[in-house]
Formats: sequence, C-alpha cells, structure tokens
Amino acid sequence: MSETPDVLIIGAGLAGLAAAVALSGAGANVSLLERKPYVGGRAYSYPHPALDEVIDSQHVLLGCCTNLIDLCRLSGADRHIRWYDSITFLEPGTANRPTRRSDIGPSPLPSPGHSSLSFLRASMLSIADKSRITLGLLDFLRGYPTSDDEPFSAWLKRTKQTDRAIRHFWEPVIVGTLNESFDRCSTRYAGQVFHESFMKSAEGGRLGIPAQPLSEFYTAVAQAAEQQGTALHLRTSIGSIASIAGIEHAPRGLWQATASDGSIHRAPSLLLALPFEQTARLLATLPEDSPQRQRVLPAMDKFSHAPITTIHLWFDQAITDLDHAALLDTRIQWMFNKSRIRRFEASSVAQPGQYLELVISASFAEVHKTREQILTAAIDELARFFPVVREGTVLKSGVLKEARATFSVLPGLDRFRPASDAPGGNLYLAGDWTLTGWPSTMEGAVRSGRLAAEAIARGTGNSASFLSPDLPAAGLMRLLSR
Ligand SMILES: Cc1cc2nc3c(=O)[nH]c(=O)nc-3n(C[C@H](O)[C@H](O)[C@H](O)COP(=O)(O)OP(=O)(O)OC[C@H]3O[C@@H](n4cnc5c(N)ncnc54)[C@H](O)[C@@H]3O)c2cc1C
Repeated sequence: MSETPDVLIIGAGLAGLAAAVALSGAGANVSLLERKPYVGGRAYSYPHPALDEVIDSQHVLLGCCTNLIDLCRLSGADRHIRWYDSITFLEPGTANRPTRRSDIGPSPLPSPGHSSLSFLRASMLSIADKSRITLGLLDFLRGYPTSDDEPFSAWLKRTKQTDRAIRHFWEPVIVGTLNESFDRCSTRYAGQVFHESFMKSAEGGRLGIPAQPLSEFYTAVAQAAEQQGTALHLRTSIGSIASIAGIEHAPRGLWQATASDGSIHRAPSLLLALPFEQTARLLATLPEDSPQRQRVLPAMDKFSHAPITTIHLWFDQAITDLDHAALLDTRIQWMFNKSRIRRFEASSVAQPGQYLELVISASFAEVHKTREQILTAAIDELARFFPVVREGTVLKSGVLKEARATFSVLPGLDRFRPASDAPGGNLYLAGDWTLTGWPSTMEGAVRSGRLAAEAIARGTGNSASFLSPDLPAAGLMRLLSR
C-alpha cells in the first residue's frame, strides 16, 4: 500500500490535473491515479501504428477560457498555443461561382461592435439574415439566461432567425462549440458562447489551437504537478474489474480505492475526476445505503453523450494555405491544416504535401457508418471547397470516432449537475459534467478541478481560492455587461 497522501484523485484528465496542480501547489500531499498510460483524458493523442503518425482530435480554446489558459501558463504549455484573431467561413463553390470566403474578426471599434465591420462585409449572409442575427444577439448583450430550461431551437424560432442565418452563423458556432443539435442544447449555453466570445471583448473570442499533439501538450501540466510533489500513477485503473472493490470506506476515516493490479490507495479526501458514467460506476461500488452514493447516483441517468468524428487526410500536395476554416453547408464543421498549425513546433518534420483534419461535430449519423463511407463523403465534400483535392492523391487516411466525446448540455440539465462537494463525507467530484456553469469543454474541466480543490481545502479549514477571474468586459460592454 502506498504512503497515505492528503488527497487521492482518480482520473488525470484536465479536471484531475487542474485539481492536482492547485492542491499540490498549496502544499497538500496528492496522489493522482490514471488508468491510461498518458494524462489528458479525452484531450489525448497517440501514435497510430498503421499510419505511423501521432494523431489527435484537434481541440481548440477561446480567449475567454481563463482557467485553462492560466493552467497552461503555469506549466509553460501556453508557448505551444497558436492564437488567431479571426475565423474564416467558406461556402462551397457552385457551377456559377468559386468557393466564397468570409472572415469574421475584430476591428478597432469598441466592444460589442468589434466584429461588426467584418460581420457586415460577410458574403455568407444577406442583409435580412444579418438584421435577424443582430436582433437575436441583442438578447445576449447584457449576459445570458440564468435558467437553462429553454432549448436553443425554441429561441431560434422565437427570434425568427432565417434559414441561412441558422446554417451559416448559428449552426457552425453552436454545433461546433456545444456538439449537439439545437433541440438538445439550452439557450443558456448558446447565449454564453456568444456573450463571452463574440460580444464581451475581442480577446474573449480569440481562437487558440494547441500546436503540439495533445498528450505532448498536456504532459507539461502533469510535470508541473509532479514537480510540486504530486505522485502520478499511470496504468492504475480503479474498480474496473468486477471482483475488485472500487471505492470504499477504510478505518480511521480514510477513503480507499483498489486498483485492478490489486494495489490499495488510501487518503482522508477522495476526488473522483472522471466522466459521469465512470463516476456512476464507482459510486455504485459503495453500499446501497451510503449517503454519498444516495446523494449523487440517482441523478446520473439524466446525462448523455454526444459523439465527434475526425477524418485525417495526408495529401501528396498542398490543398490550401489556410490554417483552419469553418466549412458551411456540409457535414464537416471545421478543417484544420495540421501541417501549417504544427509547422513551428520543434518536433514537427517538414514533409511534402499536406495533412488536413476534418471535424464532424454531433456526428450521431457517422457513428453507424463505415470508415470507407465516412472517408468518401468527406473527400467529396472537401473537394467542393478546394477543387485541387480532385487532382491530388490521398497518401494515407484515418477516421477517429469518439462516441463519448462530450456530455450534452440538454435543456434543464443544470439542476442535476452536482457541485464538487455534493457527495459529502470528504468525497468530492470533478469533471466537465459537474456544476461549473460551462458546457463540456477543457475550460469546464479545469474549472471543475479548481472548484473541487477549493472545496477540499475548505474541508480542512483553508479558504484558498484557485479559480481565475473571468476576462473583464471591454469598450461599451463595461457599461452594458451584467
Ligand atoms: C473528439 C473530441 C473533441 C473535443 N474538442 C474540444 C474542443 O475543441 N474544445 C474543448 O474545450 N473541448 C473539447 N472536447 C471536450 C474535452 O476534451 C473534455 O470536455 C475535457 O477534456 C474533459 O476533461 P475531464 O477531466 O472532465 O474528463 P476526461 O478527459 O474524460 O478525464 C477523465 C480521466 O479519468 C480516467 N479514468 C476513467 N476511469 C478511470 C478509472 N476507473 N480509474 C482511473 N482512471 C480513470 C480517464 O482515462 C481520463 O484520463 C473534445 C472532446 C473530444 C473527445
């Protein structure tokens, strides 16, 4: 049995890592248990043996992700984030015109009008679309609803958004960020996206892309935790074998976690930094009359997952000089030009041709399709934007289906999302799905880890605060924002 630490954290995704950095930085003795051979959880990369490439599903962040950015800064990982001020939207070419491009980005005008010049110039929207969008955005000028009861589909209808405004503006942004269809996400979180990233300040809307493969990128965060004394145990899975107890009470008021290799880990405080389904599984290993189990487990069936599918294509020639773009009127939400994004990294080897990654959010349909069906459709769609695709050769390709990519911010779900101290009895929860006020994102995960660290510190009479402040409102938003 390992030496007794102050806190045992199960799960070294971003929630667990953020909690470990906060707690060990404040002097606590932390043990971090992770079942995989790498940290970062769902934000991971791996060497694909058949492709002979390190691949990941590209993750992006926004300037308003203050806790994630702070965590990256603390560990030095922020040096590998590439920042972009504007976003390119592409409409596919037709028989009568080539691919059309609209760039939305800031100008010197004060917020909330900083993007208005590029918005007014955007050819992807008509004047009627733009006026409906502007009227709609006024709803999120001062903030966003506190209640999450209304589906975003109802809001779109209520504010009479046009078909093209939905397809060319609301959909790429909301399906891309919330990873769900409009009837399965709430206006609260859609409003939050627009208020924080589009209106409050230009800085809040900057797009950040980790240029390193994700596991490499987040190793720096794990190293920061280890340098502060966190003991990281990789390949340590808790409760994954039915015959071995998961978590339980041990003598002297300790919590005990048993790993599949039979190792036993104990501490006075236990933090489950896991996705909701894994949390439910471990809580179910407690006795039925356990108050910790009873307080949280019954609400867990309200949560559900949404998938993301990524398509990785290596071409023998350059396809585009864009680093990334939103692709309109297709299944593909986003194109990332990995060759260009990674080009300044020391580990990247300049290769001829180009490596592109295509992202299909809320890819419920693709989950049931074969690799060949997905690839054929994606290459066809890509060629509608970049005709040179038809002249090039795909040297190799990969499809990554993540069926449990995110949890869905279903209308009304907030009342079931537990606070980090909801179980009581020195058992704590973290993970993007807990009550963070954020949707399923890396920022939500880091916030949850820091909130849990605050709750654990509070439990020992320490009023430490670990959360970073939100970005301040800029320009006129200083007067308008709540
Ligand atoms: C394809 C894809 C694309 C995404 N794109 C974005 C994006 O662009 N921007 C963004 O902000 N977010 C994105 N996300 C969401 C983001 O990855 C998650 O919200 C975030 O990483 C969740 O972190 P977490 O720590 O809460 O959970 P997780 O990352 O799931 O971490 C939980 C950890 O616990 C470990 N674990 C599980 N069970 C056990 C056990 N029994 N014992 C020990 N360890 C265990 C897991 O291995 C994992 O490491 C994306 C997700 C996916 C999958």
